[in-house]
Amino acid sequence: MKDCVIVGGGPAGLSAALVLGRARRSVMLIDDNRPRNAVTHASHGFLTRDGIQPAQFRRIALQEVLEYPTVEHRQAEVAEIFKQADGFEIVIKTGDRVRAKKLIMATGLKEVFPTIDGLHDFYGKSLFNCPYCDGWECRDRPIILIAEEPVILHMAKLLYNWSQDLIVCTNGKPLLSTEERMMLETKQIRIIDDTPISAFEGKNGQLKQIVLADGRRIERSAGFVIPKWQAKVDFSKELGYAVTEFGGITTDTMGRSTIAGLYAAGDAAYVRPSQLIYAASDGYKTAITVNTDLSEELFV
Ligand SMILES: Cc1cc2nc3c(=O)[nH]c(=O)nc-3n(C[C@H](O)[C@H](O)[C@H](O)COP(=O)(O)OP(=O)(O)OC[C@H]3O[C@@H](n4cnc5c(N)ncnc54)[C@H](O)[C@@H]3O)c2cc1C
Repeated sequence: MKDCVIVGGGPAGLSAALVLGRARRSVMLIDDNRPRNAVTHASHGFLTRDGIQPAQFRRIALQEVLEYPTVEHRQAEVAEIFKQADGFEIVIKTGDRVRAKKLIMATGLKEVFPTIDGLHDFYGKSLFNCPYCDGWECRDRPIILIAEEPVILHMAKLLYNWSQDLIVCTNGKPLLSTEERMMLETKQIRIIDDTPISAFEGKNGQLKQIVLADGRRIERSAGFVIPKWQAKVDFSKELGYAVTEFGGITTDTMGRSTIAGLYAAGDAAYVRPSQLIYAASDGYKTAITVNTDLSEELFV
């Protein structure tokens, strides 16, 4: 039986594996290598790694983690998890099973975007979701902000700092009050809320035009689309843990879920803001909690 299985090998899971490996714990890190940020060419804002390719970030991290002999890595999808009296049984899609005293879920989240033709051709290349990740690269360019949620107002105020050539589009939803519209229009921010977007156009992932449902075409070279967030996996019925408002795993401030022995880190625990450095830090913290609990339990 392993001390800990970590499901998910993004920055949260990798960081947890590093800490537990250094703490001499036997760990299996299981990851199906389908990270959310794989669509983008570069990750920004992680000190010492600014601009790194997401795959390279993971490669370096995994190499470091596997330096520790008690850490094992499996590239595979976890299909089922069962709670047992002394821990967990994790079932891999191939049918293999592994048992562990502790389980860290670091499975990330998924984005649900407005349904607009072509969006996925541009996402991660010239359409992004986070200004801290990609705002600098879009500075002073003609950009569009698209959101179907009230958070659009806050995002517009943020993005204005990166580019004042800003159009705000609610995809046809009447989201903004008269006062809020005035607030934006005083800064020459154009608002499109009377018609949805029917398509994005451009080449090789580089946006050129937004096509509106009424036939209008608007030139934009980049944009930000605000998705809804959902948990990437949902084992709440099998394991019985409490969920956050987006279906993620509710944790205390140290990463413990409501089920003994089950922990969560990074996006899976809805750590905000959703950034590499936060996820890595959260994985570190949660691994310390796991190690502390294992040490304490030995002396009971
Ligand atoms: C387009 C885009 C650009 C971004 N740019 C930046 C940036 O520039 N800077 C920045 O700081 N942040 C950026 N982010 C955010 C950043 O990627 C996330 O905050 C971070 O990856 C979260 O880490 P995590 O470890 O919690 O989850 P993830 O990185 O999503 O990792 C979760 C892992 O779990 C695996 N997994 C899920 N379910 C299973 C299962 N059942 N079995 C096995 N494995 C499973 C997935 O395959 C994945 O590898 C960006 C995100 C996107 C989408």
